[in-house]
Amino acid sequence: MSVANPLIDQFSRRISYLRLSVIDRCDLRCAYCMPERMTFLPKAEVLTLEELHELALGFIDRGITRLRLTGGEPLVRRDMIELVRALGRKLGAGDGATGGEGRLEELTLTTNGTRLAEFADDLAAAGVHRINVSLDTRDRAAFAKLTRRDSLPQVLAGIAAAREAGLKVKLNTVALKGVNEAEIPDLVGWAHGQGHDITLIEVMPLGEVEQDRFDHYLPLSQVRAALERRWTLTPSDHRTGGPARYADIAETGGRLGFITPLTNNFCDGCNRIRVTATGQLYACLGGTEQVDLRTALRSADPSRELAEALDLAMRIKPARHSFAIDRAGAAPALARHMSTTGG
Ligand code: SAM
Ligand code: SF4
Repeated sequence: MSVANPLIDQFSRRISYLRLSVIDRCDLRCAYCMPERMTFLPKAEVLTLEELHELALGFIDRGITRLRLTGGEPLVRRDMIELVRALGRKLGAGDGATGGEGRLEELTLTTNGTRLAEFADDLAAAGVHRINVSLDTRDRAAFAKLTRRDSLPQVLAGIAAAREAGLKVKLNTVALKGVNEAEIPDLVGWAHGQGHDITLIEVMPLGEVEQDRFDHYLPLSQVRAALERRWTLTPSDHRTGGPARYADIAETGGRLGFITPLTNNFCDGCNRIRVTATGQLYACLGGTEQVDLRTALRSADPSRELAEALDLAMRIKPARHSFAIDRAGAAPALARHMSTTGG
């Protein structure tokens, strides 16, 4: 399918993947993600359902083929499922409503799983095939301490409901020294036993939290070495269009992903951009380059202003991020929390 005006950045990278945050609020308070007393945005600043839809269609017209909805926690937004249904209609051949130029190949979601049991069937019916569920521990007390909410039973019920509904579940686990380090092999074994892929992630220095992330930063090279003492890991060519690199584990028969923004920079093949729930486009997860799409959407000529804003984003997308967690007491690399861009 040809796209009249594809999104290509100043380094000739074709941008085909959008992570769209639908809300900045969350029902958990993961200690590495946000403080207990997180300041959320006034609701009036958040895009309406219609604006989110219009924005997503604008991106699809410019060649975005993969769209991931995220948050905050996307499933705490009340009208969220209506957006999923509307975007689900753009999957496959599309309905021509945007001029027939763009076509969505995949619609996915990243969730903490607390409300998944309620929505799994609706998501599947809307055309979602795969979802990512974040799960850092299966120990109820450790989960309650880490997320500051005692919600593990709901999350596990949500994962089970998703599987029942026919959704392919991938688990995402942030590796944390002194928190889940010892449990990671069991978590991987459990995930594979349930038929779920699982990806490990290094903690990133985004936004002030109460703790010093240096205390819990765990390079995945160490985790991998520990797993290799237990199992046979073979590097895999599998790619999902994202930064994860995979290994197959012979003994479990499952696949394990590694996302290593700190130990191994993955920016050369970056194909993605992020938009917050207030319509701020961030050209890089690890940068401050920003374009205000809400003003474009609310202007007298939204389609022209949006096109210009997206062209600007392509000109300012940086070559790479430069995070580090290399000393105690350092300020976060960025003031922005991960919950603003949704990962
Ligand atoms: N609330 C949803 C969830 O938890 O899946 C979606 C948003 S959350 C910000 C997306 C992902 O970012 C989660 O997998 C979470 O573990 C991860 N995350 C949050 N803060 C992080 C940080 N500072 N470093 C690395 N990953 C982080
Ligand atoms: Fe909420 Fe997700 Fe951040 Fe945890 S990681 S506090 S679930 S946004």
